[in-house]
Amino acid sequence: MKTILRLLIIAIIITPVFIILLTTDEQKNNKVIASPSIRIIPRDDWWGNLPPGELIPSRPLSYRSNITHVIIHHTGAIQHNNHTSREAVEWVRSIWRHHVINNKWSDIGYNFIIDRFGNIYKGRHNPFLFDKPTREVTGTHARGFNTGTIGIGFLGYFHDKLPSPAALSSAEQLIAWRFNIHNLSPFERDRTIFRIATHRDVNPTGCPGSRLAEYMPTMRQNVAKLLNIDIIVEPPQPDPRPDPYPDDPQLEIEPTPWLWCPLFPTQ
Ligand SMILES: [Zn+2]
Repeated sequence: MKTILRLLIIAIIITPVFIILLTTDEQKNNKVIASPSIRIIPRDDWWGNLPPGELIPSRPLSYRSNITHVIIHHTGAIQHNNHTSREAVEWVRSIWRHHVINNKWSDIGYNFIIDRFGNIYKGRHNPFLFDKPTREVTGTHARGFNTGTIGIGFLGYFHDKLPSPAALSSAEQLIAWRFNIHNLSPFERDRTIFRIATHRDVNPTGCPGSRLAEYMPTMRQNVAKLLNIDIIVEPPQPDPRPDPYPDDPQLEIEPTPWLWCPLFPTQ
């Protein structure tokens, strides 16, 4: 009887240890994953007449779990501003065509695109977005900074104006959702770059426009509020870059539906 009692006590002690050892990283992270209250428009809903065989890209994409930053972009064409919701979808398709057909990338470069109504379009194909949300697809949006980052593109040109309140709010909810999953804080820095950074923080470009770049301290605060993190008020840091930045080549050419955020302006 004493032996049975001892075995029972040992089993009670070691069972939680086995449960911890057998729990995967993703299962642990599930404790902090909140269901998004925002809707992500799936690729099928904006795909339209693009090649059906590329809805799921035929070329392999890479996925990572150790995410460090969100990188904010604008799509960089003045004619992207003031779109109707139908035009927004057409612009998203035109960006896909430019990235895949012209640039010959595996898929659209951004992880997400946001229109002025606050609609969030799923960009690069990521089958894990909801089922295994700690895995992010690696996009093509910031040279040398694609791996481990999430690229969010605001549809429009934001050197002299901000995106709409609906668009900013959607971005902040989207970032809070992903930061909660990856256990990141908006006020931390990694490699001296804030975790919510802009394209111009990492590459020589005017993207995402001066007004949107200046908004980043407010965006970090709003994401912190959503995450229930203490607010840090940052001193204003005016960016001395002119509007537009000289390396924004698309501003010097005839407007076409193919205009885009200057991803590689120095090439
Ligand atoms: Zn950009």
